[in-house]
Amino acid sequence: MPSTGEPSIFSRIAAREIPATIVAETDRVIAFNDIAPQAPVHVVITPKTSEYANVVELAAGDPDLLAELVAVASGLAATLSNGQFRLVFNTGETVGQTVFHVHAHLLAPQGAGGPLEEGTLGFR
Ligand code: AMP
Repeated sequence: MPSTGEPSIFSRIAAREIPATIVAETDRVIAFNDIAPQAPVHVVITPKTSEYANVVELAAGDPDLLAELVAVASGLAATLSNGQFRLVFNTGETVGQTVFHVHAHLLAPQGAGGPLEEGTLGFR
């Protein structure tokens, strides 16, 4: 559902109003473990600003911020996994987007673990 004008759940996590396991943070990006993990490593990476609803808006409006988000994903994959990862941006309700504050799902094996299952795409 599109924005209601209320702070998004991810803005509330960034403001520490809702608890989450935060695994990385920069001035403009925050990353935390997904509450319903779909892979051994499943991290939500999102800009602190809620002005972009999806990755298309972010790419058009602030490509440097999108690049920063990807850099955070890469760093986390190197730290939490083997450096290889899947990055999913659900874009639209019919493909599973439920939070309309742009975010990437970082999906990866744990540590040096085996390959990620093919079906693990971050939507249900
Ligand atoms: P999407 O369905 O692509 O919009 O992704 C939203 C993601 O946010 C889902 O994978 C949810 O499990 C996750 N999520 C929702 N609420 C929380 C929360 N409080 N803490 C961590 N992850 C959450």
